[in-house]
Amino acid sequence: MAWTDSHCHVPYEGIGTEVIELARRAGVTRMVNVGTDAGQSATAVAVAQANEGVWATVGLHPHDARNGVDTIVHLLGEAKVVGIGECGLDYHYDHSPRPVQRDAFAAQIALAKANDLALVIHTREAWDDTFAILAAEGVPERTVFHCFTGGPTEARLALDLGAVLSFSGIVTFKTAGDTRAAAALCPLDRLLVETDSPFLAPVPHRGGKNQPAYVVAVGAAIAEVKGVEVADIEASTWDAAERVFQFP
Ligand SMILES: [Zn+2]
Repeated sequence: MAWTDSHCHVPYEGIGTEVIELARRAGVTRMVNVGTDAGQSATAVAVAQANEGVWATVGLHPHDARNGVDTIVHLLGEAKVVGIGECGLDYHYDHSPRPVQRDAFAAQIALAKANDLALVIHTREAWDDTFAILAAEGVPERTVFHCFTGGPTEARLALDLGAVLSFSGIVTFKTAGDTRAAAALCPLDRLLVETDSPFLAPVPHRGGKNQPAYVVAVGAAIAEVKGVEVADIEASTWDAAERVFQFP
């Protein structure tokens, strides 16, 4: 048994591929390297293909939605691609116009279904539109809400759709009581852990660059919330990641 970091970006600002070996030494033997635009998706694929235990997604982040989804589709047939995304809506930063974000999200939902890939969703301050677009397009069979930051209400809505919730280092932050409450109600077979490295380093690593090895701290926080052993979270998140990403 070992850990899966269900969402990281390697390499990315401040971290290089050496973090893969550091993760392995910490017992994190499986990583999903997530694309955010054409360049980063191509990098994620190349790193996955060069490293055992590393898998990739191809996607267009809402920040980059203005680039157009046609900039990433050529990567979908590459070996070790297990998902589409991260994609979705970010109404906090609005780096791309909202109608453009909505179109790119809908297009990537369709791609996930057409290619039988997991859908990796990023949503920030956009719950209503996120759920509305999923309802209109139809929810892919394997759908992940990455870096879940909602509370119990949003967790129930997402779980009712059949989606899986992926929790990040945010669950270790003092201020995240609502998100811990969401983790508390999320069934273990629908719960993943991730780092989203190099962002969001969990306590006790907060302040530094995050890396996949630190997913163990996220798992420990989930174990505390659930009142179970850390090894139980290690096992359940390993199995849940297998079901969601179907690592070939
Ligand atoms: Zn991410």
